[in-house]
Amino acid sequence: MTSIDDRREAREAKLDELHEKLTEAVDQLVSGEDWAKALAFAAQFRSRSFNNTLLIWMQHTAAHEAGLVPDPMPSYVAGYKQWQQLGHQVEKGQPGYQILAPVTGRFASSTPSDQTSWRRLNRNEKPRPGEQVRSKMVGVRPAYVWDAAQTSGDPIPAPPTPKLLRGEAPSGLRAGITRQIEAAGFQLHAVANAGAIYGANGVTNYGEKTVSVRDDMDPAAQVKTLAHELAHVLMHGPDQGDARQHRGIGEVEAESVALMVGAAHGMDTTGYTIPYVSTWAAQVDGEEPSKVVRATGERVRATAMKILDQLDTQMTGDGTPPGLERDSPRQDSKAVERTGASPSTRTTAASQQLALADVRGLR
Ligand SMILES: [Zn+2]
Repeated sequence: MTSIDDRREAREAKLDELHEKLTEAVDQLVSGEDWAKALAFAAQFRSRSFNNTLLIWMQHTAAHEAGLVPDPMPSYVAGYKQWQQLGHQVEKGQPGYQILAPVTGRFASSTPSDQTSWRRLNRNEKPRPGEQVRSKMVGVRPAYVWDAAQTSGDPIPAPPTPKLLRGEAPSGLRAGITRQIEAAGFQLHAVANAGAIYGANGVTNYGEKTVSVRDDMDPAAQVKTLAHELAHVLMHGPDQGDARQHRGIGEVEAESVALMVGAAHGMDTTGYTIPYVSTWAAQVDGEEPSKVVRATGERVRATAMKILDQLDTQMTGDGTPPGLERDSPRQDSKAVERTGASPSTRTTAASQQLALADVRGLR
């Protein structure tokens, strides 16, 4: 017989185990190359939180090494019942990959603008007349997903894999990114070479609201630089307040967003240069490096998703099997904010002043 307390204890033990797995996964991201690989993986499963992509990656690799799945890369992942909805059955003996799923609660208030007035509703409780109701994340629970290779059923069409020639930019990507830079109020300038912009490939100037990019590079390199500068525009402007933090991490974030946007279009991501993880993760005072890594990953993913959502280009799959509507990925990302901590908000007035005048270049 299982009491509610026993069940709760078992669930908490599983959550502890999951957080240990996550820490282990993050600890394995040592070099800039490891980080780039994790992001390229996350780009193929981008509808999941960064934490969950790490968990899926790690557990799939273990399943592959144990000979349970033929391919080192998963193709589509979904929950047990979701596979059933698609006419697939998880095969006996196939371990699911544990991930973190959000737990939401309903809250009601008759004076919604007063944050303290919201009260949590019980499971079947109805709001009183005149009350507004809102759903909010209240925690996480362990959940399981399986790779398509762990199920039996009709073959599923493979995810789209756009093929590009060396140096070629995905069709429509340049125009789409340019539109987003301009929509943010920035003017785009082409410059003849790196000499014109302090030796960089691109520069974002927040004061003058301009983005300058070298036009003497191949189309792939130009579109990559445009994505990098768009990430600066969206994440690091003076009006971003607390979000603008350490310059080193800003560069890591911009380059990482560019990598994810490129990877989601099947671009070769080996040429992206990201410094050693330990170097930038240790920059935030008083913050555990592994938390910085996870928070950075989630900020990168969220920004890349925002950019990708507004493009009408042909992209790779996002890890969700065709025909399946996954429950809101937004909730998923909130789950990470809770468990993964937010980036440091310690920015002194002096460094803010400095950052206002800062011209960011791509190095
Ligand atoms: Zn930059």
